[in-house]
Amino acid sequence: MTIKKNLQKIKEQIEVACQRTGRDPNEIKVIAVTKYVSEQTTREALHAGIEHIGENRVDSGLKKMDALGEQGTWHFIGSLQSRKAKEIINKFHYIHSLDRVSLAKEIQKRASENSTVKCFVQVNVSGEESKSGLSPAEALTFIEELSDYPAIQVVGLMTMAPFVDDPEETRPVFRGLKELQDKVQALQLSHAPCNELSMGMSNDFHIAIEEGATYIRLGTSLVGNETLPQK
Ligand SMILES: *Cc1c(COP(=O)(O)O)cnc(C)c1O
Repeated sequence: MTIKKNLQKIKEQIEVACQRTGRDPNEIKVIAVTKYVSEQTTREALHAGIEHIGENRVDSGLKKMDALGEQGTWHFIGSLQSRKAKEIINKFHYIHSLDRVSLAKEIQKRASENSTVKCFVQVNVSGEESKSGLSPAEALTFIEELSDYPAIQVVGLMTMAPFVDDPEETRPVFRGLKELQDKVQALQLSHAPCNELSMGMSNDFHIAIEEGATYIRLGTSLVGNETLPQK
């Protein structure tokens, strides 16, 4: 019941953000990030009508997917070690953390024949050292190079904004990702339509939407966090 309520509230907030910028709320897809919650809670999220599920660890993500994967669209949003990649490729529907050639090689090698793996290239727009992802300039070159890996389809770009008290401070980061998207799209690469922007989390998704997000990734505000002491 709470997930349904949370979802309702989030949908209202999405509508407000869309109204402010003249966007269509149907362009915004909500990924429920279930990394902090149980399989049962993830099942509830699917029952509440959530289509997109996000997991950031290979082992626990696969375990949930084995149990529930008949339903929903599954997004791998965590950083991905090359040696672990084979376990999720051809299983998860989207990978949000493509950030290096060695991983591209591994995806190419492991992808089923004649299929493509839908990837977001992860960009570190803010330049924080603790964050993974390529700088915007590196990302542009990298995306061009990905034409050598026909199994990879660059559906979009992903970023994580710094965690700050005032979400307004994240705006330049989201705007930077949008600007990079414009540059990629100007190249008209058949392997990189790059129509999607995966940006915005519980604390800053309304800003991300105003700046062009098409996938927002919500953990705490939507499905909660069961690893924290319960009140
Ligand atoms: C955990 C996580 C989220 C969700 O974070 P919340 O602040 O709980 O909404 C989104 N994106 C990524 C990549 C994450 O690891």
